[in-house]
Formats: sequence, C-alpha cells, structure tokens
Amino acid sequence: MSQEQRAVERARKAFCTGRTKPLQYRIDQLKNLQRFIVERQKEIADALKKDLNKSEFGTPLYETMGLEGEISLAVSKLAEWAAPRPATKNLLTVSDEVYIQPEPLGVVLIIGAWNYPWAVTLQPLIGAIAAGNAAVIKPSEVCVHTSKVMGALLPLYIDKEVYPVVTGGVQETQELLQHRFDYIFYTGNCTVGKVIMEAAAKHLTPVTLELGGKSPCYIDKNCDITIACRRIAWGKYTNCGQTCIAPDYILCDPSIQDRIIEEIKKSVKEFYTEDPKTCSDYGRIINKRHFKRVMTLLEDSTIAMGGQNDESECYIAPTVLKDVKPGAKVMQEEIFGPVLPILCIGNVDEAIDFINQREKPLALYIFSSDNKLIKHMITETSSGGVLANDCLVHFSVSSLPFGGVGNSGMGSYHGKFSFDQLSHLRGCLIKQLKMEGMNKIREPIISSITPPT
Ligand code: NAD
Repeated sequence: MSQEQRAVERARKAFCTGRTKPLQYRIDQLKNLQRFIVERQKEIADALKKDLNKSEFGTPLYETMGLEGEISLAVSKLAEWAAPRPATKNLLTVSDEVYIQPEPLGVVLIIGAWNYPWAVTLQPLIGAIAAGNAAVIKPSEVCVHTSKVMGALLPLYIDKEVYPVVTGGVQETQELLQHRFDYIFYTGNCTVGKVIMEAAAKHLTPVTLELGGKSPCYIDKNCDITIACRRIAWGKYTNCGQTCIAPDYILCDPSIQDRIIEEIKKSVKEFYTEDPKTCSDYGRIINKRHFKRVMTLLEDSTIAMGGQNDESECYIAPTVLKDVKPGAKVMQEEIFGPVLPILCIGNVDEAIDFINQREKPLALYIFSSDNKLIKHMITETSSGGVLANDCLVHFSVSSLPFGGVGNSGMGSYHGKFSFDQLSHLRGCLIKQLKMEGMNKIREPIISSITPPT
C-alpha cells in the first residue's frame, strides 16, 4: 500500500470513529497546532531561510503571526460557530423548530503552494480542524526544507492519524487525487487548479481553489504619490515578488510615471539598501526554473530601475519597467517575481476598461484620495478582493473572506469563512405529530369533504 493510500485510509477510519466531532477535541488540536508554531519557530524560520531566504523578521510577520491569530479566533469562537443557527420561519412552520446545523464534511485534502508555505497550508487546516474534519496535508515539494520539517515535526503535535502529512511531488499529489475526499482545498496556479477540479469531479468532491493572476494597481494622479509608492514597493518586493496578491502591474497617467519610478527607487533603497543582494531582508526566487521564467519577462520592455541578476543565487534585483505595452511578455502571465511594469493610460475609466478586458484578478489596488473614485472603481470592476491605499493587508483581516473569483479561484476562507467553507450547513426542520388540522390546506381536496354517512 502506498504512503498516500495509507494516509487517506487512516484519516477516513479515524474520522468514522467520530473522535473529531466533540468541540473539546477540536480545541485541543488547535492548541496543539499553536504549540507547534511557538515551539518550532526556529526550525520553521531555518527552513524558510534555506528555501526562500526569508528574513528573521519576515517569518513571524508573514507566516506565523497570522496563523496564531486565526487559531486564537477559532478557539474563542468555536462554540458559537458550531452551534445551531436559528432560521426564519414561515407561516407553515411557526410552531416548529427551524435551524441550521453546521456539521463536518469528512476528510479534506489540503494541497499547499510554496511561496508562503506555512501560511497557505496550515491556515486551511485551522478551518478543517475547527469544522470537525479529518485532513490529509500535502505541502509543496518546491519548498524542499519546509516540506521536510512539516512532514517530520507536525505529527509530533497534532493527531497524526486524523491529520497525516504526505510529502512528495506531482506524482504523490496525483496519487492522492485518485482517492475520494469530501473536500479539496488547493492553493497554487490556475493550470494545476484545472487538474485538481477534474480529479475532484470524478467523485463529485467540492473544491476551494486559491489561485493567482495579475493583480492591477491603479494610481490616481491626485494622490500622495510618495506614500503610495512606499506602500506599493513594500507590497511588491516582499518575498521577492512571490506573493499571490502582490501588485502585478501599475496603471497610471503618463504625467506621473517618472515621479512613481523615483519614489519607488527611494523606498527600495530605504528598505533594502543600495545593494539589495547583500541585504538580509531581501528574498530570492524559489528556483532556477522560476528565475529563468521571470528573466524572460524582461526581454521586450524598458528597464527603468533594477534588472541586475545572478542566476547562481536566483537573485533578481527589485525592478521597474516603464512605458510597457499591453502586448509585452511581462503582461501575458502572472509575474510572481520582483518586476513591476508601469502602463500609461488616459484616465480612470480607461483603467477600468483595461481591467475588465482581462481575467478577474485576485486583488485590485486603488491609490487615490478621492473616495468617490475608489467607490466608482469598486462598482465597475470585479476581483477576489479590493484594497484602497495599501497593499496585501486585507489578507490579515479575519472578518473578510479571502479568495478569488473567475480565473483567480473559487471559494473563500479566513476566520469564520474557513469554518463555514469546510462545514456542511445542514438545514433542519423538526415538526411535532400534532396540529394535524393545519395540514388540511395542503391535502387533496377530497380529504376535506366529510364522507356521507
Ligand atoms: P506548486 O508548484 O507548489 O504547486 C502547488 C501544489 O500542486 C503542490 O503541492 C504540487 O505537488 C501540486 N502539483 C503541481 N503540479 C501538479 C500536477 N500536475 N498535478 C497534481 N498536482 C500538482 O505551487 P505553484 O502553483 O507554483 O504556486 C504559485 C501559484 O500559487 C501562483 O499562481 C500564486 O498566485 C498562487 N497562490 C495563490 C494563493 C492564494 O491564496 N490565492 C496563495 C499562494 C499562491
């Protein structure tokens, strides 16, 4: 029997015993997960340093603090989330019990991506545990060190039969996908997203697909460009641009393009010094394949800043491209690297048209001091999420659903949304065997006619 089959069967068997259902079990497991994160901070940080050159301060900030917050929230709210939810009654059910009962789905498959490997793999797990499910956890093989640490250490903390970790690559993921799950939660690219959905369809398994795409960033010429560019430089170059919601490209009026370039240069220098290559806070591209892919995207555009690179270290400097044409290579796919193209457009409505002519993005960023303009853009476009006057931080707000729409994904999570997404919301109606007279109105007419004696 393969490790994949063994993991799925053990998780199924454990789930069927009913041990994941009591709220106390779920709380204990969530607390164990919390303990894992706190006690293994060093191993987590070391693995991320090796995989992505993540900085000492970047690991807690972008990977583990969010997880700890989500766990605390789930622990404190679980009783409320899992309780029966009263539902509105109609005339025919006024004296009945009508409510919604969240119940576990069963065994969930969680497939993670490599860019924030702890956050995107363990955050869905928090929802799965809280909702009372078993879960098979498949971290991304691309993060070699992280995947090893997760596989070796996580089972020392949480119930290893209910939440097994399966390590390995595409072949192992495909083997897992042959099995029947009750839910699949996938984070990664659109192409593999289709493979996942196809496999899920064979068993009619519902899916959440947390995908990526090109998230636009519109800068209004009447905003504070210094502050806007500082926030954009932070959002773009964090994790070397390998963030699913990184601003992918800038749309702006031609009159402010040079100012934007200057301000981004200033911020990059402040954040990562004159030479980002020697700065311990600046990341690296995950591997040579992605390094080459990102470098190809520079080929037919004008470099206004950066462009320096070193294949031996998978280093690409923070880069800005100017006067980029919609047909340029860099505009044909999600960049997922530290390259920021600027496209000049006439006005906000041209920006809206530009965005609407393309696939629906995971995030839309709008920088403006005009609230009306912000609301106008929100009304006239569609995206997974939208954030005005900052980058990335909407990911950290547990009261907002996080997820894509159209090509950027389906389903959403974080906070209570994770719990609901990974529960079945069961409609319950309990009637009494009384008040039969009320049913006359629904019965065939013949029964209401008194038979002749
Ligand atoms: P990846 O290469 O690590 O793949 C993710 C998972 O898919 C891995 O576990 C891998 O084993 C599996 N996989 C890969 N190819 C497969 C195949 N042919 N069949 C079955 N399984 C396969 O990660 P990636 O896709 O390069 O991740 C980057 C992408 O993820 C970007 O597009 C990014 O925007 C997106 N992303 C989205 C979010 C989000 O929350 N929406 C978060 C992070 C990353």
